[in-house]
Amino acid sequence: MSDCIFCKIVDGSIPSKKVYEDEKILAFYDLEPQAPVHVLVIPKEHICCADAVNEENVGNIAHIFTKIPEITKSLGLTNGYRIVNNCGEDGCQSVKHMHFHILGGKKLNGTMA
Ligand code: IMP
Repeated sequence: MSDCIFCKIVDGSIPSKKVYEDEKILAFYDLEPQAPVHVLVIPKEHICCADAVNEENVGNIAHIFTKIPEITKSLGLTNGYRIVNNCGEDGCQSVKHMHFHILGGKKLNGTMA
C-alpha cells in the first residue's frame, strides 16, 4: 500500500534497522523502544490488522511465529519476552499494517492493560 509506512520499510524507501528478513516477513527495531529490546515483526504482505487475517494470508502470520524463536535467540532474549499485537481503535493500533511487538531484555511489568 502506497501510504503505509511499514510497506515503505519493506520496499526500502524508509530505512530501518533490520534484525531478520526472508521472503515473507521482516523484523526491525522499533523507533521508540518501550523496553531494552523492542523489535517489530511484520508480514511483508500488507495485512491491516488481526481483523483482516483469513485463510489466504494466515500463512504469513504462522511463518512469523515459526521464526520468533530464532529472532528472539538472536536478540539474546533467552529468559523470555512478551509478544504484543494491537488491533484497531480500542487496541491503540497506530500503524495500520499488522505487526507484533517483541519486548524484552528485563522483567516486564505484569499488567496487560
Ligand atoms: P502500534 O501502536 O501497535 O501500531 O505500534 C506501532 C509502532 O511502530 C510504535 O511502537 C512505533 O514506535 C513504531 N514505529 C512507527 N514508525 C516506525 C518506523 O519508521 N520505524 C520503526 N518503528 C516505527
